[in-house]
Amino acid sequence: MPSIISKLPEVGTTIFTVMSSLAKEHNAVNLGQGFPDFDMNEELIAKVNEAMQKGYNQYTHMNGYLPLREVLAEKIANLYGSNIHADTEITITPGGTYAIYTALTSVLQPGDEVIIFQPGYDSYIPNVLVNDATPVLIPLQYPNYSINWDAVRKAVTPRTRMIMLNSPHNPTGAILRQQDIEALRTLVTGTDIFILSDEVYEHIIFDALPHQSMLRYPDLLERSFVCFSFGKIYHCTGWKIGYCVAPAAVMTEFRKVHQFNCFSTDTPKQVALASFLKQKDQYEFLGAFIQQKRDYFLRLMKDTKFNMHQSHGSYFILGSYGHFSDEAEKDIAIRITKDYGVATIPVSAFYRTPIDNKVLRFCFCKKEETLEKAVERLMRV
Ligand code: GLN
Repeated sequence: MPSIISKLPEVGTTIFTVMSSLAKEHNAVNLGQGFPDFDMNEELIAKVNEAMQKGYNQYTHMNGYLPLREVLAEKIANLYGSNIHADTEITITPGGTYAIYTALTSVLQPGDEVIIFQPGYDSYIPNVLVNDATPVLIPLQYPNYSINWDAVRKAVTPRTRMIMLNSPHNPTGAILRQQDIEALRTLVTGTDIFILSDEVYEHIIFDALPHQSMLRYPDLLERSFVCFSFGKIYHCTGWKIGYCVAPAAVMTEFRKVHQFNCFSTDTPKQVALASFLKQKDQYEFLGAFIQQKRDYFLRLMKDTKFNMHQSHGSYFILGSYGHFSDEAEKDIAIRITKDYGVATIPVSAFYRTPIDNKVLRFCFCKKEETLEKAVERLMRV
């Protein structure tokens, strides 16, 4: 057998798969991996079926089904006031994670530095490393996980090529504020630094707070790849379909990588989404809908020993346990799955060098009865 030199020697199996498998094995309620456990919209399913019946079963355009890109451009104009060209500035991808990987791969040269906040989504660092670039890691400020812009300024070097943002933030539920946008602007103006903005939880933001999308700010958008996911909007994470918005010149490079990776994305789903996206209420009510779940979960969790943090958006909320146990996060997450039947994610999994603040991530994007069942068990911990 030929020997292989790993491109990602430090990487194991993603924590989401590890915890979901453990949850299955122990018949645990899975509040680990982020996915809804309730049904998606029947009408959207019917629309996919209809598209297949009508014969939309061959490759669509490599950049995505044009009517879908057109509706997205319209949605962006309505929500954020930016004039995006459907033809040159939007590409439909097999998921948000793929869009992020493709954006990084289209820009990074060996030795480039990428500023990444920690904790952060677990694909970012491997995506940078596989491109022979260097992740420059900056801790978010515990316990509210805000960005220390002084630390960011100090970390910038002539090799800094990209800064990765994620709002609403996975795993912490933190969001970017207006002052973050100002600090970002001061930092990048006049530089060669790109922005990768992971906005997959775009509509899942609570308490009527505004989503600080890069799409709102033309001067930031001109250097940004902005990545989205339909799975998060329509409760179908298994569909693996998303998109990237970027200025035409950089989108050309993005498409060079994309076309020889998967070439094009699932046709019937794009046809269905192009039609379904016209129903604005389906995404406009999402923040309030998921907020109810956050609030319900928080109310239930008052009867447990966990100290819950704030979550302003996303599917997630953190809970601290350091006052009743000094076990490492991964150990307690595994023990609670095995002994009490509830799976969570240790936040240390979102760091390259694990920092153990004794916090677990809970996914509350579940049916009320699922949350009740989980908390009934967590009360015994
Ligand atoms: N985004 C999801 C989460 O954070 C999981 C995605 C995955 O399993 N790769 O839980």
